[in-house]
Amino acid sequence: MATTVAPPAAATAVDIGTEVHRLIAELYPICRSITGDGFRETLRRLRTHAPLSVLEVPSGTPVLDWIVPNEWNIRDAYVKDSRGERIVDSRRSNLHVMSYSIPVHRRVSLAELKAHCFSLPDHPDWIPYRTSYYNEAWGFCLAHQQLEALAEGEYEVCIDSTLAPGHLTYGELLVLGTTSQEILISCHTCHPSLCNDNLSGVAVATFLARHVLDSGPRRYSYRFLFIPGTIGSITWLAKNEAVVPRIKHGLVLAGLGDAGSLHYKRSRQGDADIDRAVSHVLRHAGRSHEVMDFTPYGYDERQYCSPGYDLPVGCLSRTPYGRYPQYHTSADDLDFVRPEALADSYATCLAVFDVLEGNETLLNQSPRGEPQLGRRGLYGAIGGQSQQPVDEAALLWVLNLSDGRHDLLAIAEGAGLPFAAIRRAADLLVAHDLLAVVPQQGAR
Ligand code: ZN
Repeated sequence: MATTVAPPAAATAVDIGTEVHRLIAELYPICRSITGDGFRETLRRLRTHAPLSVLEVPSGTPVLDWIVPNEWNIRDAYVKDSRGERIVDSRRSNLHVMSYSIPVHRRVSLAELKAHCFSLPDHPDWIPYRTSYYNEAWGFCLAHQQLEALAEGEYEVCIDSTLAPGHLTYGELLVLGTTSQEILISCHTCHPSLCNDNLSGVAVATFLARHVLDSGPRRYSYRFLFIPGTIGSITWLAKNEAVVPRIKHGLVLAGLGDAGSLHYKRSRQGDADIDRAVSHVLRHAGRSHEVMDFTPYGYDERQYCSPGYDLPVGCLSRTPYGRYPQYHTSADDLDFVRPEALADSYATCLAVFDVLEGNETLLNQSPRGEPQLGRRGLYGAIGGQSQQPVDEAALLWVLNLSDGRHDLLAIAEGAGLPFAAIRRAADLLVAHDLLAVVPQQGAR
């Protein structure tokens, strides 16, 4: 099959980064959690870019070993001092209220208030991000310097929230390809005003969905999931047992906007095609990067790679979660995510898609001795009129390793050449009947 789209030109890439950043800025003020109207509002905005389906699963639904929790909604949260002034106000930052806080409205002493406050002594002007999904509690998050400066006295605390039976909401988009085999793209969408974790993944996935929709038919079907972390992937897996076997490759996207280099965490399988494809793309991008082995912590790859599924799903990030001080704080803001990093992450995903789409196992139809390339005009194709000349070494590598046991990605790796060069050589050889498709799968 022919190779798919070329990587975006430099000018386009910058524009994409700006557009992705603009979407992050639009979503930033919304108070999201694992359930509730903030999540719905986020999906509503994403639907202006790509036609996601919005699915609702009732609270109390058993999903694998879990139960869909009650739905949380928040209207207001504040702490007032003795003069009635809002000294902590969720309208200034939605990080001020601990996510899933139960409602409270009463007067408390400073000591009691402090027992419900979270701050970061090492970064005294940042607000931390805290949640209490599965323990009923209430709390405020604030800058340590503000907490330290609070005077003795009485305070009014108010969290105007509801935690009640409702739904878990998630977004899903399936873009059909010419086969029912799927590439899964999953991102957690449950954090409030935090940009790198998780809006960068949400926004990049949205623009990838838009691109896949707009760029014409592909071999694979693409499934995009916008879900609350952990409970969302568990819910999706529980409800989609019939779909799971169709997932041939997958990526969890998170933390794609910071200035750090790209990091890829392999799937649990370790040598799945997605692991080979991402490693190949990163190596040939010519920039520093890191490929890491699977670990059973992190994002939703934990669920996709649980042993009962063991799906070929890796995780692509820039600086991994928890390895930057801004992680889960108010400093993970609009300045922390950069258009050029977002554009690079987006282009990397498209390059991975191209490798997966273009990879297949072909069989040399003239394997006894080298076929005579000059007679077929194939040497003339080398460095010829085409903008992307076919490399002679690529032709020879493809012919030699197309023994039915190496796919084109393995040949690219063996040759030390970018996948696209190998794919172009294979296209030319197929056109001259020197290569043919091997029907069975799984060869390397
Ligand atoms: Zn997080």
